Amino acid sequence: MTVQAVLDEIRERPGTGEVIPIIDPATEEQITEFTDCGTEAVNDAVARAKESSESGVWKLLPPSERAKVLWKVADLIDENKDILAELEALNAGMPPGQAEMIVSVGSEWFRYYAGWCTKIEGIAVDVNASGLTGIDSRLHAYTLKEPYDVVGLIFPWNGPVFNFCAKLAPSLAAGCSSVVKPAEETPLSAIVLERILAEAGVPDGVANMVIGYGHTAGAAITAHPDVDKVAFTGSTEVGRAIVAASGQSNLKKITLELGGKSPVVIFDDANLDLATAVASFGTFIHSGQACVCGSRIFAQRGVYEEVVQRVAAMGNNLKLGGPKEDGVMIGPLISQKQLSRVLGYIDQGKSDGVEVVTGGHRLDRTGYFVHPTVLTNVSTSSRLFQEEIFGPVVTILPFEDEDEAVALANDSTYGLAATAWTTDLGRAHRIAKRLKAGTVGLNCQMQFDHSVPFGGYKQSGWGYESGKAGLDAYLQTKIVWAQM
Ligand code: NAD
Repeated sequence: MTVQAVLDEIRERPGTGEVIPIIDPATEEQITEFTDCGTEAVNDAVARAKESSESGVWKLLPPSERAKVLWKVADLIDENKDILAELEALNAGMPPGQAEMIVSVGSEWFRYYAGWCTKIEGIAVDVNASGLTGIDSRLHAYTLKEPYDVVGLIFPWNGPVFNFCAKLAPSLAAGCSSVVKPAEETPLSAIVLERILAEAGVPDGVANMVIGYGHTAGAAITAHPDVDKVAFTGSTEVGRAIVAASGQSNLKKITLELGGKSPVVIFDDANLDLATAVASFGTFIHSGQACVCGSRIFAQRGVYEEVVQRVAAMGNNLKLGGPKEDGVMIGPLISQKQLSRVLGYIDQGKSDGVEVVTGGHRLDRTGYFVHPTVLTNVSTSSRLFQEEIFGPVVTILPFEDEDEAVALANDSTYGLAATAWTTDLGRAHRIAKRLKAGTVGLNCQMQFDHSVPFGGYKQSGWGYESGKAGLDAYLQTKIVWAQM
């Protein structure tokens, strides 16, 4: 497939809703457009998924056969890596190297979960109970791990191939049928991935893609009584709406990978070269549009000024630009909406009297670029400090001691990730226990591996992705009792 073929195909895709333009965030030009699939298309997709589940065409396939299909998907993603990376860069504005990395992480999702297909197992229990009826004490109990029939997979624009693979690979390994909804801003790579699934041998009706807005297609999935489970990645606000929709429909099970406002704590004794380089990268990468970005840095008083200066200098040295420009390290924000949102937070901060150490403005060029922004003198009760901005904006505050660092770091409704930089081994492990976050990095940040579970504390999520826990999210446990 060529890029042009994808742009044409999506334009021709049938739909019944609004026509949605797809914008290149680096140039603000329209790339193509598509028609929102509408509610009926979601109903049809759910019906196809249900039928495929009931037929057993996928969930009853021998696990080793499912594994071969998943492995083939991975190989086909690799074979198509150039077009996938090109589409990812074009649609999400990523520098080419970052887009290529995301695609290779994508194929590895399928290889990793291909291995799990043949390792889904329950437990057998040596039962001592006599049973409530007291009739017979010779009982046996065991568990079966069974896939949900129909799962809804909904994800955001910030890493389209990554998010697609993170949801499809474990749900297919488990044996689920699905309705898949990429973000309306970035559906281009999903067109190629949809073809790859079919070419690899995922049977018709097992993975059904719908493309449309969240309030139309997404809401229709979450309200549908035949969708047994929704796995969602996105904002906490939409996560809350999905929980409500589940309550008002069929109490579908839900896993949520939501927003974050992750703290990075730098102690006086830290390796400052490494800590400030990684913390800068960890907040400005992808223009701050990664859920785990460390957008609140806390530096101990002795190194505070130095941390502020170094992070600001790193921010000033990062070259921003579109994927076709040379030497670019950071791309644009995804949309005009996101640009207005990020600038809105910065302007609010300015009128509240925060100090803008660097940045605080969009670049004087086309594209949704915001200069990496470092803010100090920020009140901990302000929206800037408390709310997820999802842009290249970091606040840096000083602290005196470990207790104050922990209190500041935990002063958030989010709990996705946290980082501590210190050479004191005891303190590192002490603080790992005290930080309220689903992932804690000790002298490292933004770690990722397919085999390591990932999930949020507090309002950053429910459940886990990656590793065995990520597979379990798509399996139900059935308990079988037998009289012997
Ligand atoms: P979003 O919540 O606005 O949208 C995410 C997806 O949900 C999109 O596909 C959208 O169309 C859909 N959606 C919107 N409204 C819906 C509704 N009412 N019902 C069903 N679906 C609906 O998020 P976004 O702005 O696209 O992405 C940014 C957010 O994603 C940030 O908050 C970020 O932290 C979060 N995120 C979290 C993780 C994680 O793993 N924790 C990873 C990436 C992004």
